[in-house]
Amino acid sequence: MFTQVLLIALSLIPAGASTGFTDHRGREILKTNVCGAGTYADVKSGVPYVNVDTCSLSKLPRVVATWVQLHEVSHHLLGHLDLPKITKLEEAQADCLALSLMKHHGDLSKAKLERLGTYLTKIPGDATHEPGPIRFLNALGCSLLLTGDSK
Ligand SMILES: [Zn+2]
Repeated sequence: MFTQVLLIALSLIPAGASTGFTDHRGREILKTNVCGAGTYADVKSGVPYVNVDTCSLSKLPRVVATWVQLHEVSHHLLGHLDLPKITKLEEAQADCLALSLMKHHGDLSKAKLERLGTYLTKIPGDATHEPGPIRFLNALGCSLLLTGDSK
């Protein structure tokens, strides 16, 4: 489904290059870097990409910025961009997979997890995202099931 990548270096990948991941159809997921546009996943001319808004991500703790980018990569891995609409369910799945990838690749110490949790508990919900505390608890529980790691 995806190739391994040094997750911590995702933000260092140059714009236009591959993120090191392939989507559910086996297509390379590219990275773009449009400052101020937000960090999001999309498909343009059949090419999946994640826009990494380094201008806003650089203001966040690194563990949060990594999780945000992997959340967007996860939408591609899970085929969400093929759906007519992304709902709270898909958002929760992307939250879970992002956290699981960080655990699987060993990029999640207890201190980093606490930093992520502290950040997320301050985020309000919206039409497609549960409030931060619920997102964090859902992702923790779900990633425990996926990875068997109680960290
Ligand atoms: Zn999302």
